[in-house]
Amino acid sequence: MSRSVAIIGAGPSGCFVAQALLKADPDLQVDLIDRLPVPYGLVRYGVAADHQGTKGVVRQFARLFERQGARFVGNVEIDAALLVEVQNAYDAVVLAGGLSQDRRLGIPGEDLSGVHGAGAVTRALYDHPDADALPQLGRRVVLVGNGNVAIDLLRLLAKSPEELDGSDLGAVASEWLANSPVENITIVGRSPAEQAKFDAVMIKELGKLSGVSITVPDLPDTDSPDGAKKIDALRGLAGLSGGPKSIAFRFGMTPVAIEGEGTRVTGMRFSDGAGAQTLLPCDTVLTAVGFGAGPEALDRDRRVAEALDDGAGCLAPGLYAAGWFKRGPRGTIPDNRADAQAVAARILSDFERQPEAGKPGHAMWQGRGGIVNYADWQRIDRAELAGAADGRCRHKISTRAEMLAIVAKTEETT
Ligand SMILES: Cc1cc2nc3c(=O)[nH]c(=O)nc-3n(C[C@H](O)[C@H](O)[C@H](O)COP(=O)(O)OP(=O)(O)OC[C@H]3O[C@@H](n4cnc5c(N)ncnc54)[C@H](O)[C@@H]3O)c2cc1C
Repeated sequence: MSRSVAIIGAGPSGCFVAQALLKADPDLQVDLIDRLPVPYGLVRYGVAADHQGTKGVVRQFARLFERQGARFVGNVEIDAALLVEVQNAYDAVVLAGGLSQDRRLGIPGEDLSGVHGAGAVTRALYDHPDADALPQLGRRVVLVGNGNVAIDLLRLLAKSPEELDGSDLGAVASEWLANSPVENITIVGRSPAEQAKFDAVMIKELGKLSGVSITVPDLPDTDSPDGAKKIDALRGLAGLSGGPKSIAFRFGMTPVAIEGEGTRVTGMRFSDGAGAQTLLPCDTVLTAVGFGAGPEALDRDRRVAEALDDGAGCLAPGLYAAGWFKRGPRGTIPDNRADAQAVAARILSDFERQPEAGKPGHAMWQGRGGIVNYADWQRIDRAELAGAADGRCRHKISTRAEMLAIVAKTEETT
């Protein structure tokens, strides 16, 4: 009987683990379990709607299910009790559920209305079934954070409706952006520009925007080759003018407090680390300062802290971790591949040392209602592609009920 592996989370890291396992041993039973009826995690719900090239990675993930024999077990949320059942049913279990909770700044004023986390905003923009409604933005936005997520948000807020052609942005999000009152965005980073986390290529892309004026402070030269690329890209934007919206970059400013009148934000205060403070007046604060474990994360922080072998992703005998769940909210989609290969290698070497247990694996799901399999996902996918509006490559279905209705309808007619 072949060994069975359950991977909890069908995002990029789960898919890369499955890929590595099945490449090494095509006879393994590998199931990718996801709380959503659709696979691919943040490729679908985080990667920007106007970066469809990046989302092309799903074509290699699809081969997992179509050619390598992995199975998708969608619409199943694993909680602590179900995790025990899964551990009893599979020879190895990999936790690859990512990190979904916006990290907080930990400063006064963070709960004022008008303060929003980038994760919550992008989930709403990209039609995640569990997203809150899109927030009401004001005219003056302070965007805190200097990673690629902050730059994605900046670019989307600055784009004209025409510049979003070819994306998979839904009708509600498109209207929200088109009617957004935002006139002025100040993007603030804690580090100096050369140490910012964004990639230079993301900054260069801003130079193609048609409707914005951009100001960048004077930036010192640096000896770091990576830092120099960032500085060059930023200098290339300085003075860009041509539109009603304005963007200003600020660096080396540490958040101190968000200020408000009543319950509403009126400004954000920063320190330069040398005793001087700056108040930036604003009516909206967007934070993009990383992610932590959400309520669905199966006690992630404790499990990682108590891991048997953190580096190889072994949390406990038979229980492993991969991707953002393992490493924290760092790294791009390709960065998860090397990590996944190490986890897969550890699982395979553990298998060699253990006697075959003859666990049931996938059979544990027999008779359980509501599961969405890969063929069901393909039906949802086809419906989304067929429903694309003019200027869009896909119409994302935004609720579980609608997704499940497509699956049920096809079942009735087959
Ligand atoms: C806004 C944003 C934009 C990004 N843009 C880019 C980009 O342009 N390019 C790039 O290379 N990288 C980008 N990244 C980084 C990239 O998305 C991550 O490196 C990658 O998604 C991490 O993969 P993961 O599988 O660990 O987590 P995720 O992609 O989050 O996948 C986790 C999966 O686990 C499922 N899950 C969670 N809990 C449970 C549970 N209890 N039971 C069952 N299923 C569960 C979730 O539904 C999800 O499908 C971006 C990240 C964010 C947040």
